[in-house]
Amino acid sequence: MNYSAITKGNIEKMVVKPNLDDYQTIISNFKWDNIYKELDGFDNGGLNIAYEAIDRHVKTSLKDKPALLWEGKHGESEKYTFHDLYKLTNRFANVLSKLGVQKGDRVFTYMDRTPEVYTCILGTLKAGCVVGPLFSAFGPDAMKDRLEDSAAKILVTTPKLAETVHEIINDLPAIEKIIIVNKEKTPYDFQAREISYEKLMEEASDEFETVKTDKEDYAIMHYTSGTTGKPKGAAHVHQAIMGHYATAKYVLDIHPDDIYWCTADPGWVTGTSYGIFGPWANGVTQVVYEGGFSAGGWYRVIEKYKVTVWYTAPTAIRMLMKAGEKVVRKHDLGSLRYMCSVGEPLNPEAVIWGEQAFGLPFHDNWWQTETGCIQIANYPVQDIKPGSMGRPFPGVTAAILDDNCENEMPPGQEGNLVLKQYWPSMFRTYWNKKELYDSRFKNGWYITGDRAKKDEDGYFWFVGRADDVINTAGHLVGPFEVESALIEHPAVAEAGVIGIPDKIAMEVVKAFVSLKDGYEASEDLKMDIKKFARQKLHALSCPKEIDFLPGLPKTRSGKIMRRLLKARELGLPEGDTSTLEE
Ligand code: AMP
Repeated sequence: MNYSAITKGNIEKMVVKPNLDDYQTIISNFKWDNIYKELDGFDNGGLNIAYEAIDRHVKTSLKDKPALLWEGKHGESEKYTFHDLYKLTNRFANVLSKLGVQKGDRVFTYMDRTPEVYTCILGTLKAGCVVGPLFSAFGPDAMKDRLEDSAAKILVTTPKLAETVHEIINDLPAIEKIIIVNKEKTPYDFQAREISYEKLMEEASDEFETVKTDKEDYAIMHYTSGTTGKPKGAAHVHQAIMGHYATAKYVLDIHPDDIYWCTADPGWVTGTSYGIFGPWANGVTQVVYEGGFSAGGWYRVIEKYKVTVWYTAPTAIRMLMKAGEKVVRKHDLGSLRYMCSVGEPLNPEAVIWGEQAFGLPFHDNWWQTETGCIQIANYPVQDIKPGSMGRPFPGVTAAILDDNCENEMPPGQEGNLVLKQYWPSMFRTYWNKKELYDSRFKNGWYITGDRAKKDEDGYFWFVGRADDVINTAGHLVGPFEVESALIEHPAVAEAGVIGIPDKIAMEVVKAFVSLKDGYEASEDLKMDIKKFARQKLHALSCPKEIDFLPGLPKTRSGKIMRRLLKARELGLPEGDTSTLEE
């Protein structure tokens, strides 16, 4: 297969005219002010994400249009119009007000992809509070780090997850109320902090005037992992909706009649920017599937709901490839007209496989938790160079700079991928870590932490991370977080964690562990450490492999040299080892 081949912008196959029909013209005329004019805003110049996503449609013919088509993991299905969501989110905003939650307070959700999580996220924004959606797959340590750092006042969760919350609740004095969604009672004692979602919602009015937040008021936090330290809360402001709206329109190419499906969970920024805000701000019907991955299950969702635009991730695409085209052929997927991917490098084979299996290529795009919305993308009207992330979004300036982030690298040469400050959805801080935030900017550029190349045609090509962060199945894992969890195991003296290549997930987590005196390396001990990690971390962050070493390579200042562990593991040159401890 010739991967350097260009996949033609599939205009002929397009059943609707792309929103971005001429890249050059749109780039030349693009102004964020014009995007602002496409939103409603408030007469005081403010903006509120939830108002733009929901409230404004209730004043139009979209009022009774389905907004959310929800399919539960057991096959249940529920339909919510924009008006339904308007009333539900009003109710939840009233619930928060009644509980005494103030503008700017943090409200976190810890739930599966049920309709309630969407209600809570949007209702929180309406009340002017800051929302923090967390993955239901998080273990107690991951939860504690995030809730402690954000000093969240309210946590909304379900009986199934209450056990995890119960384990850590005594360490979280800031939490005033734990709202438990769903019918049954939990057996845990939260010392009167527990309260029923259904009861609160029933008692609340469905009328609420959305708080007229300022463009710069904090709206949403997503925690992301770095090389060192605990996860950092990237905080975004209400103005981010301009980015969500514009990129959903021009990159995901959603049109009023589309049925759109983003497979991401709201615990990840893709699941909010493009699984809630951008599409609904465009008034488009979205499908949410609560169930996990299976090729047949996913195709059934596309077929049942006649999904037209599909936004997913490379690991999922590779798993679909593994399942093969036979499964594709068992379903009528003729509704699909446009497909996008994000989160990790999308291999050229996957782009081309999309054409074979669905008659459409996957359009890769690039962005990060910090950037809040898509920055670099392949567009419907442009030729795809399989393996490339595409070209910058209008209004975004991306460049490849040298090691000092001073000079641009010539075409084809690797360097730091940077973005010119500033775009509306850019994060405004790392919560409680202003210095770290400031360190991400230099000479008016935001340093993304990725290494990339730009070719003569202005297409960007991902090379790798500039740091030790592991990308497994699109989920960023900070090695420090995993190492910290591992050394809490009674047998573990030290731990060093790296990513090793994996055919499906791109990378998986591997841990090197040295044992405390009195402990013997064994397969049983490995299993026990893995089990221990699973109880603490997100499933994807847990080591898939563990090797025992008598000691770990460290710098003279005592830092574990993950780079060296990785070079040795992969048989690569060890590089500079001058700082290696004797
Ligand atoms: P997150 O903040 O968790 O969304 O992860 C962002 C990181 O994922 C980026 O900095 C990249 O390292 C990686 N990433 C996201 N999209 C792509 C892409 N299209 N190609 C390559 N890497 C990507």
